[in-house]
Amino acid sequence: MFKAVLIEKDAQSYRAGIQSLDEAQLPAGDVTVRVGYSTLNYKDALAITGKGPVVRQFPMVPGIDFAGTVDSSSNPSYKSGDKVLLNGWGVGESHWGGLAQLARVKGDWLIPLPDAFTARQAMAIGTAGYTAMLCVLALERHGVTPGSGEILVTGAAGGVGSVAVAVLSKLKFRVAAVTGRPAEADFLRQLGAAEILERAQFAAPGKPLTKERWAGAIDVVGSHTLANVCASLRYGGVVAACGLAGGMDFPATVAPFILRGITLAGVDSVMRPRADRLEAWRRLVQDLDIRKLDLLTEEIALSQSTERAAELLQGQIRGRIVVNTNR
Ligand code: NDP
Repeated sequence: MFKAVLIEKDAQSYRAGIQSLDEAQLPAGDVTVRVGYSTLNYKDALAITGKGPVVRQFPMVPGIDFAGTVDSSSNPSYKSGDKVLLNGWGVGESHWGGLAQLARVKGDWLIPLPDAFTARQAMAIGTAGYTAMLCVLALERHGVTPGSGEILVTGAAGGVGSVAVAVLSKLKFRVAAVTGRPAEADFLRQLGAAEILERAQFAAPGKPLTKERWAGAIDVVGSHTLANVCASLRYGGVVAACGLAGGMDFPATVAPFILRGITLAGVDSVMRPRADRLEAWRRLVQDLDIRKLDLLTEEIALSQSTERAAELLQGQIRGRIVVNTNR
């Protein structure tokens, strides 16, 4: 038997809670993993609360990522005792996920846990941090360097944003952090933000083009915020867009694209090819200051993950929540 968060849905209710499950109930897969740590990502919070159509079938164990130790494997790439981690691939959406003490998955979805990280550190980074690194890589791929100018990060006090601020500052970019929580200004400065901007400046409908300010941006908010970021990018600037915390719409004009040659680089972490994942994790080892990771991490027990999910959707969580599945 093992403990897991289980989401159940019927005509009357949508509920998530801790249950004791039998290993025989695990889904098909060629590798079974003893999960040490998982996390609460934005998508997990949507799944647990039912506030977004994340879960594709019921009952579902949420948790879009986990790190742990291989318990048994019929996949030639993995053997018992190997340390592994997983991000995405529909785990926690259409295949039972990481908010559990055991998970069974396709070995092809796993990657080895980087030697430099413990399972806890890897999950403190989690899918949010891995996505932040994919966004940084997207900026680099489009030629943005510290010499290009200032980088804007929206939703900066959240999971993706806080890791993005920490990584960019270690890479010597000057970072402007947008937050709706002025009380987190000191936290963001400790992560390396040079300037703190009010969320409200970006949230309302704006002009198609405004003063050219940012050489690059990482946006987790979408909607008017993303449109305003595009409008204020410098000539040739790049925004890596990965989120919809403020809305899924994109009420923009083509003006910044056709008059300033800006680039909108979409970032998906879920179906990302393996080579990109390995590169992102290699770069996290190299470019994320582990001391900053401690600053932005809070550990909770598996049983607390359901109550904290609502707080996350309300934008009340600072940085990252790591879930100890054995607590
Ligand atoms: P968090 O909840 O940790 O952070 C989101 C932050 O966005 C909040 O902390 C808050 O930052 C800001 N925010 C929240 N609501 C609003 C709003 N209404 N308007 C403006 N800003 C808002 O989530 P994550 O960082 O984990 O994820 C951020 C987004 O990225 C989500 O939409 C998530 O689904 C997406 N994502 C996408 C991935 C992909 O593969 N494309 C992978 C991972 C995440 P502050 O208080 O500082 O303003």
